[in-house]
Amino acid sequence: MIELGSYVGGKWVRGKGKAATLVNPATEEALATTSTEGLDFAGALAFAREKGGPALRAMTFTQRGEMLRAMSKAIHGKRDELLSMAQANGGNTRGDAKFDVDGAIGTLAAYADLAPELGDGHVLPDGDAVQLGRSARLFGQHVWTPREGVAVHVNAFNFPAWGLAEKAATALLAGMPVVSKPATSTALVTHRMTEILVEASAMPEGALSLVCGSAGDMLDLLGGQDVIAFTGSSVTAATLRAGPSVVTRATKINVEADSLNGAVLGPDVETGSDVMNLFVGDVVREMTQKTGQKCTAIRRIYVPRAQVAAVLELLSERLAAVKVGDPTQEGVTMGPVATAQQLRDVCAGIEKLTSAAKIVLGSSSRVEGLGAPAGKGYFVTPTLLHAAEPRSGDAVHEHEVFGPVATVMPYDDVASLVRLVAAGGGGLVTSVYSDDKDFLRGVVLGIGPHHGRVMIGSSKVAGQSLPPGMALPQLLHGGPGRAGGGEELGGRRGMALYMQRTALQGDRALLEMLAGRK
Ligand code: NAP
Repeated sequence: MIELGSYVGGKWVRGKGKAATLVNPATEEALATTSTEGLDFAGALAFAREKGGPALRAMTFTQRGEMLRAMSKAIHGKRDELLSMAQANGGNTRGDAKFDVDGAIGTLAAYADLAPELGDGHVLPDGDAVQLGRSARLFGQHVWTPREGVAVHVNAFNFPAWGLAEKAATALLAGMPVVSKPATSTALVTHRMTEILVEASAMPEGALSLVCGSAGDMLDLLGGQDVIAFTGSSVTAATLRAGPSVVTRATKINVEADSLNGAVLGPDVETGSDVMNLFVGDVVREMTQKTGQKCTAIRRIYVPRAQVAAVLELLSERLAAVKVGDPTQEGVTMGPVATAQQLRDVCAGIEKLTSAAKIVLGSSSRVEGLGAPAGKGYFVTPTLLHAAEPRSGDAVHEHEVFGPVATVMPYDDVASLVRLVAAGGGGLVTSVYSDDKDFLRGVVLGIGPHHGRVMIGSSKVAGQSLPPGMALPQLLHGGPGRAGGGEELGGRRGMALYMQRTALQGDRALLEMLAGRK
């Protein structure tokens, strides 16, 4: 069995004491153990701040972009090995594993591409200079400079590769060193990625550290120049927000949490049309990809009342064809959920939804997986529910089941539809499918304040549409309320978390020089 270490202080170290065990969720076979007990967290943070920070800040944006390119290439070079690991430790089909690993490679490359746009300097101007006095000499100019602390990245279990890369890409390009802490249960891929990056000498010493296992008291040791970027459940997020670093030392924190993402079918969309096919394809993919364990997966489906029966039939037919089992076996199209706890949570969550909805397809019980040993594996089947009279405050609008589960609901008009979608309490993404411009204006602008992203599927883009569940480096990832109130990615917008915006007042020519404009 592999014993995983953490990469801190510029070397690999192993924790002592009781270790956590990482398993294959299709077979329950133990794969690796890890522990962070006894690790010198204060020393690890200091090394990142004192070695990694200055080295990164000495690099220009262009040089940091070259570093991200080297990181992307190093991971790409070991892609097959990482895909196999994701299958073993994450229960991923090969397609699921590609979504994660290729997402990591692509996001690092996208930020490498962004670097030249930032100029070959160290400072980012924020908007134009503004005249402050009566003469044209006294001006004000906002600038961004990298924070001088360390960025601690705490990630969820579902994206061990992309989670590391998407957060590290923005922080490193901004000039901040990173300590990455993956979820323990699926850390195998993140551990190997870190090994690959270290072996390739892709970053300067101290720029990237890995804590593989429990975070212990590490977050309590952070200060006012440090950053926490968290992805995970809203329950853990609430604990982290109440931590002493955040509360008393104003450590900056960004939260990406739960989301009851919606899909809305417009009243103009006819069965057999390109837009209907896009809608059905998106719903089925978002329900089943990564066994529904995506923060952006579709949980709530709103359909004009007259079309509910037809949509339930279309979706049920497609979902019934999904083959659940060991993802390494031929023909299997959906793997298990990631852990025994996830299995319990998903089954209990479906039960909870039945207080407001009826199960149309699937069940709230574990099933046997194709090609898996009898009685082993954390398998559930795609489960579609129907809530005939949805209401704000019911379980469908309150509870995120983090598995292959979604509920179809009717709506009667735009105003009540917007109220229901907003009843999710703030989300990462909702997709709206229609060619009716008046309907789209009402819905998209109505739900806009409740979402970080809205995807519009129309006949003009049906052939080239990107899935709503795919977080893109160019667009913001995050959302208000339940989704955590955070913002990641979105090109240079995601770098703001890792930089301080300072207003400069003074002589115009001097400010332009300091802002890197002259
Ligand atoms: P989780 O239980 O909240 O764990 C997330 C991370 O927090 C893990 O790395 C975990 O470490 C760590 N953690 C837990 N307690 C901690 C503490 N007291 N101090 C420091 N770190 C702590 O969430 P999960 O089960 O991994 O992920 C599923 C949830 O994440 C879902 O609700 C999903 O919606 C959400 N999610 C959101 C996004 C997004 O972008 N908005 C993306 C993916 C997932 P250990 O594993 O070592 O316990």
